[in-house]
Amino acid sequence: MSQPTEETRPRVMAIFAHPDDAEFLCSGAIARFVASGYRAQYVLATSGDKGSDDPNATPEQLIATREAEQLAAAKILGVEEVTFLHHRDGEVEVSIPFRRELAHVIRRGRPDVVITFDPWQRYQIHPDHRAVGQTALDAVAAARDHMYYPEQLTEGLREHRVHNVYLFATDQPNYYIDITATIDKKVEALLAHTSQIRSEGLAERIRARARAAGLEIGVEYAEAFHYLPMMQPPALMRHPNW
Ligand SMILES: [Zn+2]
Repeated sequence: MSQPTEETRPRVMAIFAHPDDAEFLCSGAIARFVASGYRAQYVLATSGDKGSDDPNATPEQLIATREAEQLAAAKILGVEEVTFLHHRDGEVEVSIPFRRELAHVIRRGRPDVVITFDPWQRYQIHPDHRAVGQTALDAVAAARDHMYYPEQLTEGLREHRVHNVYLFATDQPNYYIDITATIDKKVEALLAHTSQIRSEGLAERIRARARAAGLEIGVEYAEAFHYLPMMQPPALMRHPNW
């Protein structure tokens, strides 16, 4: 087989709400995709401008700190592109403009795999987590049809079909990714979010959670997802051979 070019290299895009979401929920899998040759992209709806207990913190300071932390975490994981959409923390809404924005991001980034929140997770009280998961899936559906947002096509983008979707923060996992080889990177990337570490023992808690998921498939560490195949084989053949 010939080596993949930049154009044919498979791509994975994680769409999430706040700096550190991906590190908590899917970064072990991201590091595995990277190790399998995927080009990884992060898309953040907000920059976490409400993520502080400090009464003197300002949103502007928080945005600068948390974007720098997110870039550091991405570098550790081998994520090649990070896009900040700068919605306000805590106020992300399911809306047509946001769907259009994410469809644009998907048509530009052209991922084979999208990873995002499970919007149907019961009792998820963070509105941004619900809204990002829902809108990301709505955008996956819209991006593949040329009748949606045709102005994006006249500016040179093409419609795009995502082949596989993995939903994290799910209460109905049906797919576990073995992250035994990448758990150390996951912990290191999580610890890059220095401003968000408010208690001792975070690394051990993360390992314990991944160990519990690993028990489900008989490996040391895993992350849990609800997997949605968006096309029947042979498109699934682009799925990494895990
Ligand atoms: Zn979050």
